[in-house]
Amino acid sequence: MGEPGLKGNVCLVTGASRGIGNGIARAAAMKGAQLAVNYLYSEQAALKLIEDLKKIGIPVLAVKADVSKEEDVDMMFNQVEREMGKVSLLVNNAGVSLRALLPDTSVEQWDKVIDTNLKGPFLCIRRAIPNMLGQRFGRIVNIASIWGLKGASCEAVYSASKGGLLALTRSMARELAPSGITVNAIAPGPIATDMLQQELNEEERTWLTEQIPAGRLGRIEEVAAACVYLLGKETSYINGQVIAVDGGWTV
Ligand code: NAP
Repeated sequence: MGEPGLKGNVCLVTGASRGIGNGIARAAAMKGAQLAVNYLYSEQAALKLIEDLKKIGIPVLAVKADVSKEEDVDMMFNQVEREMGKVSLLVNNAGVSLRALLPDTSVEQWDKVIDTNLKGPFLCIRRAIPNMLGQRFGRIVNIASIWGLKGASCEAVYSASKGGLLALTRSMARELAPSGITVNAIAPGPIATDMLQQELNEEERTWLTEQIPAGRLGRIEEVAAACVYLLGKETSYINGQVIAVDGGWTV
């Protein structure tokens, strides 16, 4: 299968300052996309990414925005459209995790996880749709989780947010299919990033690794490769699908 060229497309990756989003931004840029890099708190990391990509001649823009806030999302899209052009490739990657028993979970914690992981993609997709409809082309990739496919003890809220994101993916795929827009999701298994580092101690990471048929944690580049594939023009007949990048965990 040929490489999916992303040239001529503006790609917005949310939560691209660190981890998986950073990797997706780099991979999409290497395929020729013009890159809008969203971040919230990690400004230095976002600027480092911008600097790296500019050095190799890639058009790139950093935009600070909280994806869970409607006005931030609107401002982010306005800025990208003004300085770069209309977004035709959207990657909803920004996310937060929460490890807690449900009875110990506060309403504030619930709101933060659901607002970031589910309301954020809703706001970004809603804002992206009119331009994609106008172009009769668009690619939306939602970064969910295997915990959205399976239940996760001590991560019920996170799991619910990602399960919701998968339902949103499938519904929007049906709604937008007639307009040349695809909406797919990636469900990563445990990937070596800050998120995993913060959530689990060494003993838990070892236990987790032993459960993975591949016998190791996933790499950021492996999630990024799947995402870039789904962003390509060639994948126009793949819609509403969930690709698990999990070393065989969910098989
Ligand atoms: P990470 O290293 O913790 O990075 C999270 C990213 O999301 C950061 O760039 C952060 O930006 C951004 N972010 C968080 N809240 C935001 C908000 N309200 N608005 C804008 N940006 C926000 O996480 P990761 O491991 O790369 O995870 C990325 C995605 O993959 C998440 O959706 C996560 O649920 C999913 N995932 C990860 C794993 C894993 O094992 N790592 C497994 C399955 C799914 P700032 O730092 O700039 O604030």
